Order: sequence, then C-alpha cells, then structure tokens
Amino acid sequence: AVHIVGSINIDIIASLERLPLPGETVMAGATAKLPGGKGANQAVAAARMGAQTRMIGAVGDGDAGRWMRDRLAADGIDVSGIEVLEGQETGTAYIAVDAEGENQIIVVSGANARLRPCAPVDEGVLLAQLEVPVATLLPVFAQSKAIRILNTAPAVAGARALFEHVDVLVLNEHELGVYVPADGDDDDLARRARSLLCRDGQAVVITLGANGALAVRSDWHLHVPAVPVIPVDTIGAGDCFCGALAALLDEGRCLEEALPCASAAAALCTLGQGAAPSMPTRAAVADLLLG
Ligand code: ADP
Repeated sequence: AVHIVGSINIDIIASLERLPLPGETVMAGATAKLPGGKGANQAVAAARMGAQTRMIGAVGDGDAGRWMRDRLAADGIDVSGIEVLEGQETGTAYIAVDAEGENQIIVVSGANARLRPCAPVDEGVLLAQLEVPVATLLPVFAQSKAIRILNTAPAVAGARALFEHVDVLVLNEHELGVYVPADGDDDDLARRARSLLCRDGQAVVITLGANGALAVRSDWHLHVPAVPVIPVDTIGAGDCFCGALAALLDEGRCLEEALPCASAAAALCTLGQGAAPSMPTRAAVADLLLG
C-alpha cells in the first residue's frame, strides 16, 4: 500500500481580474471550495493510479475537517489514520487567481502543524511532503522499512536532516535552487541533484515542468521527457507526479519504468482545473501512453 503522511487543506479560491496591491480591496465574482494540501492531493493521485492508499494527517473538529475526510474517502482512500484535533482549525489555503492565471496564496497550517509522528511503515511505500513538521516526519522516516519517498515541497529549513533516511527525493527546479543554489553559470542539473545524495542506492528526481524530469543516482542518470500537452492549469502537477510515482513503486516497478508513467499522469493533470479534481485515473494514463 501507499502510506501518505502529509497535509490536508481546504482551498478557498477567488478569481479576480487582477491581484490586489497592499492595502487595496479587489472584488471577486465568486469563490470555489476545493480539496487541497499536498498530502491529500498526492493521496488522490496514488489512489486513482490504482494503489491501496492510506492517508495519515490531521484536521480540525469542524465541518471543514469532516468535508475533507469525506472527499478522500470518496476516492477510496483509507482515512482511519486522519486525526481529528479538538479545537483546531483544518488547514486552509486562501488563493487569489487573476485573469492571467497569476496567483497569491496564504496558507493557514492549522491542524497540519500539530500532526504527531505515526508508527513506522514497514511495507509498501511511505510518501511525505513538507507541509507538516520535519520533527514529525523524522522518526517515521528513520524507523520505516518501506520504500521512502520525500517530496521536499515547499523547501523548508531543517529538511536536510531527513535526506539520509529517504530512498527517493523528488523536488522541482525552484526547490533544487533553494537546497543547492546554481553556482554562477554552472547549471549542470545532474551535478546539483547528485550533491543531495547521502548514500548508495538513493535517487533524486528533479521535475522540470514542460521539460519533464531528471533522475540521478551516484552512477546513473535518466531524463524523462514530458508528454506534450497544452496545459489548462499546472496546479497539482508536481503532486500528481509524486502520488503516481509512489503507486507505481508500490506495484514493484523500478524507477526507470515508473518515471515515464508518472510523467504522463502529471501531463494529464495539467489538462484539468485545480489539483485533486484533475488527478487522472490509471485508465486515462494507460490510454495516453498507448495512444
Ligand atoms: P511543480 O508542480 O512542483 O511546480 P513541475 O512544474 O516540475 O512541478 O511539474 C511536475 C511534472 O508535471 C513534470 O515533471 C512534468 O512531468 C509534468 N508537467 C508539468 N508541466 C507540464 C507541461 N506544461 N506539459 C507536460 N507536462 C508537464
């Protein structure tokens, strides 16, 4: 199974003509409420790829938390590992999007910041991101015998302590720039990615948007091209990539086999609006790869 330790948020999205300047009020037509949080998004992606998926996270004890649990359960995700924290707010992202698709986002961590470590995971795949505390993830990663995937998003200080306990690190170019700043005109991505390796057997995967992804180990590298699409909105593409990758590794596929399929899933995710709602099914990914 895929065991996901991560954030559960409600995304409140307002569409505006243009984003407000400091001190300014801008009127929006309407708001949309969507399930979100990198943990929850990746869980939906893994479940739709066909993995038995368990979400480990925390929500508040109000309607928002119940709504999120129901949304995840509706995708067939095991929600028994979601703690309901009394008196806490469910994580909430307030998102403003302008007519060009540019956005401003405020995230209230709420219950996510109070998630406690879960029991070690000794089968299948453990997958986490950094919207929950590093101190919560550290004992879980250090003690688990599952295949451990860490998506180091968002880039946070102190995350490096986790890296030695990870089998596959997944990060985008922006996050790579935070952990390993490009050194002058040296944009050798493979070298920068390799500098994150702590031991033999580890892999680092850098996602490159429309340029696909680059995977490295100490003695090996692979560039996986993106599947050409005309994106509607790329929100959630990275989450889709991680969730799909976890599902495929859980099936026993090797990284070389899993990456092209994760890349195809992420390309499909860019064709729909929002994150969780646009995660593709396994059948849609198979059609794209065969077609
Ligand atoms: P993030 O969502 O974290 O910014 P990326 O933009 O690197 O991450 O996207 C993650 C993955 O989604 C990429 O590795 C690629 O497989 C896929 N993807 C993203 N943008 C596109 C695009 N424009 N066309 C095709 N695939 C894309």
